[in-house]
Amino acid sequence: MSDSQLRLVWIYPDLLSTYGDQGNALVVERRARQRGLDVARVDVRSDQPVPTSGDIYLIGGGEDRPQRLAAERLRRDGGLHRAVGNGAIVFSVCAGYQILGHEFINDLGQREAGLGLLDVVSVRGEGARCVGDVLADIDPRLGLPPLTGFENHQGVTHVGPNAKPLASVRFGNGNGTGDGTEGAYNDTVFGTYMHGPVLARNPHIADHLLKLALDVNALPPVDDRWYEALRQERIAAATQPA
Ligand code: GLN
Repeated sequence: MSDSQLRLVWIYPDLLSTYGDQGNALVVERRARQRGLDVARVDVRSDQPVPTSGDIYLIGGGEDRPQRLAAERLRRDGGLHRAVGNGAIVFSVCAGYQILGHEFINDLGQREAGLGLLDVVSVRGEGARCVGDVLADIDPRLGLPPLTGFENHQGVTHVGPNAKPLASVRFGNGNGTGDGTEGAYNDTVFGTYMHGPVLARNPHIADHLLKLALDVNALPPVDDRWYEALRQERIAAATQPA
């Protein structure tokens, strides 16, 4: 980060924000402010250019047609590519995760080019849609507690050699490949199938994004009792299906 202000960019709330994904922006913003940071949040609609000077970019999920429109506009815009080239941190959910990969299947049943910012390829799953609560163990190299979230997707995502699976599932589907992986990440770009909103359910991931953006190893602790109560409720939901 080049100055004391954290620039948080939420990409395309008009197209990509299902299942409360907007909550991810609220959580990052709040946790940054709780640490005394000055946050400039920019919500970028799909008819606006993506700013290239952000520190953290968030992209949510969406239905198949908005997902195609978002991919077209992000490819044409090029701002997110430049931001990642500048070292920005990106956190993406579901449709947004698929868009960050090399390609996915669009609403017309065609292969749609993604942004190629994360080494994943998504295809259309042949089986039942993946829907429900998920519990997964995050890659131990990240040192984070288990991931909880809610998934709802038809796409199945294969992680390539230049990305690592974000987590391995205990309950639920995640990437849907049958290999137990969920999500993917590289040094600065993260993708997950988890809605929820996922950062409200996993505030330690929001803190991880902040640490990467600030280039620090630790942040002052904050009161996480409400988050923890939500986490425990949703872990119970994932592990004791009705
Ligand atoms: N349309 C995509 C799929 O079904 C993503 C859905 C979502 O973002 N929830 O795979």
